[in-house]
Amino acid sequence: MTSPPRPTGSDPATRPSGAPDAAVEADLTDLARGIESDHRYRCDACGNVTRFDVVVTATTRRYHHFDLGGASRVEEEEILDQQLGSVTCRWCGRTDAIRVERAPVSPPEH
Ligand SMILES: [Zn+2]
Repeated sequence: MTSPPRPTGSDPATRPSGAPDAAVEADLTDLARGIESDHRYRCDACGNVTRFDVVVTATTRRYHHFDLGGASRVEEEEILDQQLGSVTCRWCGRTDAIRVERAPVSPPEH
């Protein structure tokens, strides 16, 4: 005798095992790929592929060159770690329609 299906619509307890929070992090990791030189962003809402506001939290090591008066300028900067916060389309302002695609200048995979 089999148990009848529940009349309630959604049952989140039946999800396959795995970390539920990992899905959100994977999405941000995917967007972070867009700032690499061989990928780019595309706004599915308006078709923009060139202008975006990208919020990045970065940990950097800077070589500050000070003069004797205490003023300094950064002569080298190395990015040790960075995390992408958000990507906003400059044309339509959407943040939920941005996706990453391979830049057209890179050789095709197939
Ligand atoms: Zn847009």
